[in-house]
Amino acid sequence: MKNFACPKCSNKIYFENVECLKCGSALGFDATTLQMALLVPAAEPHRYKLADRSGGTVEYCQNARYAACNWLMVANDTTGLCPACDLNRTIPNLAELGNIEAWRDMEQAKKRLVYSLLRLGLPLVSPVEGRGKLAFDFVRNATTGHKDGVITIDVLEADAVERERQRQRFAEPYRALLGHLRHESGHFYWALLVEDAGMTKTFRKLFGDEREDYNAALARHHKDGPRSDWAQQFVSAYASAHPWEDWAETWAHYLHIVDAVDTAEAEGMEPRSQGLSFGALWPFRRTDVYRDESFATLTNRWIPLSAALNSLSRCMGHGDFYPFVIPEPAYAKLNFVHDVIRSSVRHHHGLRVP
Ligand SMILES: [Zn+2]
Ligand SMILES: [Zn+2]
Ligand SMILES: [Zn+2]
Repeated sequence: MKNFACPKCSNKIYFENVECLKCGSALGFDATTLQMALLVPAAEPHRYKLADRSGGTVEYCQNARYAACNWLMVANDTTGLCPACDLNRTIPNLAELGNIEAWRDMEQAKKRLVYSLLRLGLPLVSPVEGRGKLAFDFVRNATTGHKDGVITIDVLEADAVERERQRQRFAEPYRALLGHLRHESGHFYWALLVEDAGMTKTFRKLFGDEREDYNAALARHHKDGPRSDWAQQFVSAYASAHPWEDWAETWAHYLHIVDAVDTAEAEGMEPRSQGLSFGALWPFRRTDVYRDESFATLTNRWIPLSAALNSLSRCMGHGDFYPFVIPEPAYAKLNFVHDVIRSSVRHHHGLRVP
């Protein structure tokens, strides 16, 4: 994620802020520019003028009143919701104890996912008739998963103690709301970027045949555990359960990597961002990691960065920042994810009338 600064006083601000903690200015996230915008109160109540764009009148998304959103929308938008909250199909009953806090955590994680999808240039709605849009059900006592474009997240996943219990139960090295959302969004984009894009044949060469009985494969995985050679073939143990799960896990890792490299560069934590060059791998020119970086350079940046971040994390007595080792075959799969995203974006922009 990019680094944000208050447009008025240059103080560092976070993606989740609604005001600058130094100068008190009202701030909101503008999904059309992917920037934190400075807001000037307008004459009408709850309306603001964008300080950087002439004439733009905006208001906060309706979910701002629950402190669950800081995104903006055009004033009088009929949905009353920002483009990210508009993807919600179900939210938990806010009258029930603990649900509002859980929902806020889920919204924060979801905003980060949507930010990445927008930076990648991916549509939030399938261009294929009847496929619908990426949608979310945040509900209690449900199984976290994906079906026909709808992502279901159990409210309990926002409970840190419960999440840790589940992490240990499934012997996972990492479990986070953002990780779930990235994984589940992969199932939605499989249909768009692989199946509808005619990439199934290439997909099968790398991931295997997804026509294998899905429910039987998952039942086998939960009963017998992962394949004994999973660490040599897959990005995670769960990825070995079925080709669709392999894709979703690989997709999630691709989003982890791109966002982490982008953030490290923005924060000046990467040698390249300091203008240091280590041979041809660290060009001086800044590249948009989400749009322009080649896969080879992306991974050449990620490997030393993730090792450095693991060391930093251990300094504080935490577990590894990125507790995974990517085996060689999994890089080819990550490369495939990279390629199908890029070709979809090229295709999408190719259709646009200039
Ligand atoms: Zn400020
Ligand atoms: Zn919103
Ligand atoms: Zn899955």
